[in-house]
Amino acid sequence: MPNFEIVGNDGDPCPRCGQPTQVRQHKTIRSRELRGPFYYSKWFYCVNRDCQTNTIVPPRFRVWRDSKSADEVHRLEAIKRQLGEDDHQIGSPDWGAFKRRNRR
Ligand SMILES: [Zn+2]
Repeated sequence: MPNFEIVGNDGDPCPRCGQPTQVRQHKTIRSRELRGPFYYSKWFYCVNRDCQTNTIVPPRFRVWRDSKSADEVHRLEAIKRQLGEDDHQIGSPDWGAFKRRNRR
């Protein structure tokens, strides 16, 4: 048994052939889905047999396994911005609190 179920026929049009697509999702989230940093909560499947595209995985359906790692990306970007723009604030009480929160 494949580990997916069809949950709709109203997916985004196939980017290659423009046909409507099925919406599919995992029946269960197994270790296979959890192996990478993220898996897809849903994806689209092109049912046009003549089309070479079959699976379409829009980034908006990504589910980050560890929501912290997604947060971390944003946080590192924020830190970079802060270092670049607000160097003079290092040592201020706010900066100290920020550093402590992020220590692991
Ligand atoms: Zn297609």
